[in-house]
Amino acid sequence: MKASSTLGRDEQRNGARSWVKLDLHIHTLDDRLDALDYCAHQLLERAQALGFGVLAITLHDSVFQRTDVFEDAARMGILLISAAEMRINGADIVLLNVCAREVEALRSFDDVRRLRAARGESIFTFAPHPFYLMGGSIGGKRLVENIDCFDAIEVCHFHKGWFDRNRPARMLAAKFARPLLATSDAHQLSAFGSHYTSIPRPVELTAENVFAALREGEGRLTSPPCSWKDLWGILHFMFIEHPMRKRQRGHAHAGCAHGPARPTRAES
Ligand SMILES: [Zn+2]
Ligand SMILES: [Zn+2]
Repeated sequence: MKASSTLGRDEQRNGARSWVKLDLHIHTLDDRLDALDYCAHQLLERAQALGFGVLAITLHDSVFQRTDVFEDAARMGILLISAAEMRINGADIVLLNVCAREVEALRSFDDVRRLRAARGESIFTFAPHPFYLMGGSIGGKRLVENIDCFDAIEVCHFHKGWFDRNRPARMLAAKFARPLLATSDAHQLSAFGSHYTSIPRPVELTAENVFAALREGEGRLTSPPCSWKDLWGILHFMFIEHPMRKRQRGHAHAGCAHGPARPTRAES
């Protein structure tokens, strides 16, 4: 694992420290704005096989709250953090350790400020893919204007050689002393697992301890460039497969065939 090669001198002196892999930006078929083909149980199985310890399912504009999945994750030793990817005035923001009631009330970055002030260190927010020309990227100007609303800045998986819109994100993170966070933003199960962040394993694996490690700058990024195959796969998914699936799905919502089929809020 790349993280182990970046251990500090203290850790090396004290022997190999145990690290935990995090992916805090993932979508599943529970997303009512996407039309994906893998469920949260399949995600958990893949995460366990690849040695991940902390996940956040970040549905668009709603909090993932299927208790059967949270229970399964706990049984597997995976910390699943309650989260959402909200679009606020056209800009995406990922909020971690939040409940549905809190995010439903968010209409502006001032609302985010109030929520962050009320929750203190127990909430963690980051700007996903801020410089990518996608639907909800916040862009540099608004990110700077609202930098106090963000604990971290995401390094997007979609980069290769000269094409790397994470460069301005890295500069901004350095300027405003924000940690960077590599995530998968997975919309395909195969996209999960290769682009992630690791932290030294806290004594107790809780959301607050994970956030504290990230704020301390202890995160190590595993951020390999896309292979040509990945790149083609992503573009094909974005422009052909996903739009086609959305059209086919219409108003029907795919169900989860891998776990107790409890309806989610998004489906109702
Ligand atoms: Zn997004
Ligand atoms: Zn996303």
